[in-house]
Amino acid sequence: MICPVCDQEKIGERLEVTDHFLSLEKFELVKCACCGMVYTDNPPSPAEIGKYYDSEGYLSHNDNATGPISVIYREARKFMLARKRKAIEKLSGLKSGYLLDIGCGTGHFLEEMSKYGWNVEGVEINEFARKQAALLTSANILDPLELTGLPSNSFDVITLWHVLEHFHDPRNYMEEIGRLLKPKGICVVALPNIHSFDAIHYGDFWAAYDVPRHLWHFSPSTFEKFAAKYGFSIFKIKPLPLDTLFISMMSEKHKKSRLPMLKGIFIGTWFQLKSIADIKRTSSLIYFLRHKIEE
Ligand SMILES: [Zn+2]
Repeated sequence: MICPVCDQEKIGERLEVTDHFLSLEKFELVKCACCGMVYTDNPPSPAEIGKYYDSEGYLSHNDNATGPISVIYREARKFMLARKRKAIEKLSGLKSGYLLDIGCGTGHFLEEMSKYGWNVEGVEINEFARKQAALLTSANILDPLELTGLPSNSFDVITLWHVLEHFHDPRNYMEEIGRLLKPKGICVVALPNIHSFDAIHYGDFWAAYDVPRHLWHFSPSTFEKFAAKYGFSIFKIKPLPLDTLFISMMSEKHKKSRLPMLKGIFIGTWFQLKSIADIKRTSSLIYFLRHKIEE
């Protein structure tokens, strides 16, 4: 593993974290001494990682999960879809256009955008999810290998909702995004924030470490350097407030707390209020990028 921000190799502090969600295996995070980027060391290879997703509860790939956290998650998703659409319309200055959602899962975001007049396409690695998304949206849903076949400068908006941290090859994706995005297009990337109040509070139990599924653990400052490396600048950062509650509830569950939902809501609300004054400490952030203007 090489630091994706500065290309240096495995140096700096280490932290052991557990896959509380599924396997209970331990993994090591390494913090690059050069740039501060944190990443999962020696993660399972692309061929092996599939088994770590093999759970009824992995929400982004499963819409039929029951249980109170899943139900709340789905209600929250409806609210967040509208919020995401409005933010994109405001910050792109467009009411319709060509949108590509990378890691579209079962297609709920594409459905929302398409309903409001956007021409949408999706990319999804999971074959089952790809079929579901195609059924839901009647849009073209591609396998990641087909991405290189899309014409250059063809999208006004490219979105990655909590997916970049899962990719073994984020460099290739960033290069492709740079090629596919129109000169005035925007790229929207949602990521967990390792610098958030909840990440620091929960430590090993922080649900958004989500090892070994999450390979890259960005903070606002490391993501800014990473984006710059691929010719992008960040022109706006917005918090994803409901993620703080969801991640706090999941983290309390990992800790085997009594009443994890209630405790998670209470602590998550407190962190959410604290981060109003300092949004870069929010659990999850949406970064809005555009091509850097060459001077
Ligand atoms: Zn580095």
